[in-house]
Amino acid sequence: MRCPYCGSTNTQVKDSRPSEDHTTIRRRRVCADCGGRFTTFERVQLRELTVIKRSGRRMPFDRDKLMRSVQIALRKRPVDPERIERMVSGIVRRLENMGENDIKSETIGKLVMEALKALDDVAYVRFASVYKNFREAKDFEALLGELAATDNDDEESSPGKAAASADD
Ligand SMILES: [Zn+2]
Repeated sequence: MRCPYCGSTNTQVKDSRPSEDHTTIRRRRVCADCGGRFTTFERVQLRELTVIKRSGRRMPFDRDKLMRSVQIALRKRPVDPERIERMVSGIVRRLENMGENDIKSETIGKLVMEALKALDDVAYVRFASVYKNFREAKDFEALLGELAATDNDDEESSPGKAAASADD
């Protein structure tokens, strides 16, 4: 396993233990080159999933990518990492149980929104805004920056509707 800090492949497992529900094995690793410590999870994969993007592009489903987008939405929110792990695992199981190997990216987005709605309102709003309006990670980052700075978001101007309340 490559060290996420220095890129060395010279890393060792220090400790392995199953999660509470015994669906994953958690391994603590240490890098022999830079001393960095990190954790990996081993889990069952029932099915090879392929994601179909809106553009029609196909790519292998990547649990880590899903986890990253969930974590961005949950950044600085007081949510136990164990719960986030369980949430992501739950989403993956549901995807696997749909019985199809090809999954539309919209389907994943909907499941993530449902799950975040149950878990944390702020993260839900963040994810939903991004999911509905943005395609690019940098737009996501920009939005989160705005949310952190202010929660005022009435940018919508409807030119057709002239609210002519002329009180002098
Ligand atoms: Zn390292």
